[in-house]
Amino acid sequence: MATLSLRQEATELLQELIRVETVNPPGNETRAAELLREYLGDHGVESELYAKVPERANLVARIPGAGTGPRLVLLSHTDTVLADPAEWELDPWSGELREGQVWGRGALDMKGQVAASAVAIASLAREGFEPGGDLIFAACADEEVGAGFGLQWLCQEHPEAVRSEYCVNEGAGDRLVLGGRVFYVCSTAEKMSSPFRIRVHGRSGHASRPTIADNALVKAAPLIEALGRFQDTPELGPEVEAFLRAVTGGVPTPDRAVEAAREVHLLAGDLIEPLLGTTVSPTQIVASRGRNVIPALCEVTVDCRILPERTQAEVEAQLRELLGDSDLDFEWLEGHGGTRSRLDTPLWDAVEAFVADIEPGAQVVPLLLAGFTDSHWLRDAFGTVAYGFFPMRTMEPELAARLIHSADERIEVEDLELGVRFLRHAAVEVGSLPSAA
Ligand SMILES: [Zn+2]
Repeated sequence: MATLSLRQEATELLQELIRVETVNPPGNETRAAELLREYLGDHGVESELYAKVPERANLVARIPGAGTGPRLVLLSHTDTVLADPAEWELDPWSGELREGQVWGRGALDMKGQVAASAVAIASLAREGFEPGGDLIFAACADEEVGAGFGLQWLCQEHPEAVRSEYCVNEGAGDRLVLGGRVFYVCSTAEKMSSPFRIRVHGRSGHASRPTIADNALVKAAPLIEALGRFQDTPELGPEVEAFLRAVTGGVPTPDRAVEAAREVHLLAGDLIEPLLGTTVSPTQIVASRGRNVIPALCEVTVDCRILPERTQAEVEAQLRELLGDSDLDFEWLEGHGGTRSRLDTPLWDAVEAFVADIEPGAQVVPLLLAGFTDSHWLRDAFGTVAYGFFPMRTMEPELAARLIHSADERIEVEDLELGVRFLRHAAVEVGSLPSAA
């Protein structure tokens, strides 16, 4: 085993993980969990499979701590989105290594980090690592769909398996060059995914006589336009404020925030623009099922993302005012996420120390995510400090963003190795902290 470098070990494990197809739905993550259990067992790390249904297991492994310090979970998910082989240059489940890159669905999102986390804990175990608090590796099912088989279920049904003070998950790690300076992004919070539906009522009738009916689709049109134009009053949360301070050298007023960031780099402005308030995007519409029947009902489904600590009730009041007192029903479809972790923590210090080591002069900046990750379930259940950080400095962030959930997804082996190094570093730093409190 000593002949294999961590880099080779992570590469081979990732290739094997990609070859186990875990497109969700249906997921079938148990096969990935079993592969990981076998790998970890070979290196003396015991793991447990937790499954709501047999074919969708979550794997949790740990190096037990002395009980004197905080617990850290290296969190990941083993399911992926679908892939259409016709769009790909290589078979999406080949796991082929080509010119220093491992190809396949999940390479970036996020089997690469699954493999790196597994190699981090396995290699530490081999070295006889004794952390103050448990070092936990959790490779969960069902992140991409969130139908209740993954971490949400684990937190409810087996909380002791994943209870932890600190967590490293997916979400960020990009290396950005803005205004000639280098920044590594660490996600520390996320918006609440809070889609809603409006139902606009009218009266049906024969489509050949428009005036005798009350067309719900036509009534919905100006409401859809109003939603499309919606702009929240901008505000700077702690993450955006810290990002702006680092990147622009000051804290502009909320109205000036996007402009000030754009003056440094267009990308910086694009990055913070959706993070200053609630966003709404109408995405789906259902009206008449018959071409010749004027609809009595039009349903519009709207993607909506709300800032942490804002409530649906506050946003609903705003939206109802925007929509006017039209004849409509308003219904929230769900509300997941919208949690944040503090920035002044030992885990943050560990991220900073790592970045200072790999690239002196580079700075770590926090980010609020517009999307949703499993970090939310841990923050919500245990108040865990959860960050999204998997450093990537070889692949350009623009390319990585294009490949995720898309064709020709692949990861640089250099970045995979860097990820293993970071996760080991975080485990050692948190593992040497004195107390959980
Ligand atoms: Zn993911």
